[in-house]
Amino acid sequence: MTTIRTKSVHTAQMEERTIRAKVMPIYQTSAFAFSSLEELEGYYEGNGTYLYSRTANPNTDSLGQTVAVLEGAPKGIAASSGTSAILAGILSVVKHGDHILAAEDVYGGTFLLLKEELALMGIQVHFADFSDASAIESLLVDFPEIKLIFSESLTNPFLREENMEKLTGLSNQYGCKIMIDNTFATPYTVQPYTQGAHLVVHSATKYLGGHSDVTAGVLVGDEELIAAAEKRVVNMGLNLSPFEAWLTLRGIKTLALRMEAQTANAQAIADFLRERTIVWYPGKGAIVSFEVPETIEVSSFFSSLGWIKIVPTLAGVETTVSYPYGSSHRALSAEEKARIGVTRRIVRLSAGIEGIEDILGQLETAFK
Ligand SMILES: *Cc1c(COP(=O)(O)O)cnc(C)c1O
Repeated sequence: MTTIRTKSVHTAQMEERTIRAKVMPIYQTSAFAFSSLEELEGYYEGNGTYLYSRTANPNTDSLGQTVAVLEGAPKGIAASSGTSAILAGILSVVKHGDHILAAEDVYGGTFLLLKEELALMGIQVHFADFSDASAIESLLVDFPEIKLIFSESLTNPFLREENMEKLTGLSNQYGCKIMIDNTFATPYTVQPYTQGAHLVVHSATKYLGGHSDVTAGVLVGDEELIAAAEKRVVNMGLNLSPFEAWLTLRGIKTLALRMEAQTANAQAIADFLRERTIVWYPGKGAIVSFEVPETIEVSSFFSSLGWIKIVPTLAGVETTVSYPYGSSHRALSAEEKARIGVTRRIVRLSAGIEGIEDILGQLETAFK
């Protein structure tokens, strides 16, 4: 190399490949190099894993495998968001002409994906009240085209716990797969795959990442379904970037510690709130929903929360509140909101890791 142009391009690429980093480095590369045509040919014959980062990357692979281990599933893949992981999972089971049965209280973004986007692909979705077993069963009887049951292990904002035993029974009887969104509960609390789900999906944007600095998704489950979902991720370009995968893995290292602290805080917050108002808290997880009492003006309650910020997400290390009526459930019609009970008085609180005295002190101020 003699010119500055060549030196500036190639010098950094000459480094030794024997550096042993303590943690996995970020493979911030769009593709991988081959030393010969034989090696390239070998890739296509199945020897050697990496070719192009949209098709596979060490950081995203590691994220998928790590979450699979935490969920007790054989295989996992990462995706660019919770939403794209849900899409890839759904399309690993259903195709044009098939139907899906979904819980009516799914996350707002999922509702839009199912209702608007899947319709464009010729996939019909039936929404039902999943707390009513007979409603689910009668749809399964009426629509043999239903190939997939979709629900969440812990719902938003009222934290209904999905009855996996009931869903597994129905899935066996009617021959359809079960996909569960485990974002709110996390594998620290519940592992739906070990209870009969075929696919488990996460918005890693929430607890897995845990620091509100990344948008990512992960799907784990049966080997054949994950292989099919992986094809959807590659062909539709739903892949996660290496850096986002690395950040998510960094967050996952403290998942159990965070959940332990956040769950303990959530329990204490629920106890505190129960003396003052109506509270929804199932005794697990770190989200607490409650009603602002009639004696307090809703907007002044929200503006009196000091360092507890109003944020349309959840699960970070900071305690935050969200306003389901005006954000997560905004897209629902007034009647839909009324039917599931999302009124202007509902607050969803995401417990952080702060000292509980400080959190309760701040809530006390807002109640005054
Ligand atoms: C946030 C969220 C999603 C969507 O995840 P993105 O990462 O925003 O695409 C899906 N399900 C649940 C339960 C969520 O909270």
